[in-house]
Amino acid sequence: MRYERPATIEDVTALLASGGEKSFVLAGGTDLLVRMKNDAFEADLIVDIKAIEGMSDVTRTADGFEIGAAVPCAALGENAELSRVWPGVVEAANLIGSTQIQGRCTISGNLCNASPAADSVPAMVAAGALARIAGPDGRRTVPVQDIPQGPGKTSLRKGEFIEAIVLPDPGPRSGDAYLRFIPRTEMDIAVVGVGVQLTLAEDGSIASARVALGAVGPKVIEATEAAETIIGTRLDQPALDALAAVCSEVSTPIADKRGTVDFRKQVVGVLAARAAKIAYQRAGED
Ligand SMILES: Cc1cc2nc3c(=O)[nH]c(=O)nc-3n(C[C@H](O)[C@H](O)[C@H](O)COP(=O)(O)OP(=O)(O)OC[C@H]3O[C@@H](n4cnc5c(N)ncnc54)[C@H](O)[C@@H]3O)c2cc1C
Repeated sequence: MRYERPATIEDVTALLASGGEKSFVLAGGTDLLVRMKNDAFEADLIVDIKAIEGMSDVTRTADGFEIGAAVPCAALGENAELSRVWPGVVEAANLIGSTQIQGRCTISGNLCNASPAADSVPAMVAAGALARIAGPDGRRTVPVQDIPQGPGKTSLRKGEFIEAIVLPDPGPRSGDAYLRFIPRTEMDIAVVGVGVQLTLAEDGSIASARVALGAVGPKVIEATEAAETIIGTRLDQPALDALAAVCSEVSTPIADKRGTVDFRKQVVGVLAARAAKIAYQRAGED
């Protein structure tokens, strides 16, 4: 197995473009190294991105935040400004694994691992996050929900990798939240996860909203119809009931030892209503 630790983005894309079928980016390694050990497969090439300048930085820009692809999730929680502006995204990242895992794992890795249960992904989708991709032909930027294509599959082309996640500025009177259900208190995979982001109008009604559902389909679901049920409301009980009902309706979960289809459909509605309440309260505090 070949291991490379390049110093530039151009070297990463050139290495990945020339590598064999089993070429992988190494960020935190909390999925990749475990998979290599469990599946006992040998990678052709591992490209460690942690030595690239700026790749481990969270940068405040005029339009929001740029989170380099090697920033460990623990560093997101330690960033006071990011935690203030995007508390839901940060709390999702800080639910991943344990303190030890968070010291290494990244939200780009969480996204590119393409697990339907990835915790940070619904929160990022609700936040309107973008993935900035570098490749042999230059750069392109796509909504994060366009990256996972199904369990373990991404839309990244040969030679491409994510260099940063871009979070926009949500503007005043905005709030977000992420909630997940797991059968124990930590170190478990989401049975259901829900991210909600919303912005309030002057009169306290919801001017815009985004709802994203995790672990209830082969990839994260951006539930636009669900978001529409709460837009224009003050999140009263009928609005919360409608939100829950549509989230259940649009979910297409599997049944496994962790939960039946009916259970997941019910829980996704309950969590959506609870996450929306938290996001609404946060938006009002601005
Ligand atoms: C004990 C344990 C507990 C866990 N708990 C959770 C949990 O609660 N919730 C959860 O969602 N996950 C959990 N995970 C899974 C894992 O920690 C997360 O998915 C993590 O965010 C992966 O990030 P990473 O940087 O370690 O990715 P890596 O392992 O480095 O990479 C994962 C995959 O993405 C690719 N990749 C990484 N970065 C990029 C990039 N920038 N561009 C293109 N491809 C890239 C890699 O090639 C690899 O295929 C857990 C894992 C362990 C071992």
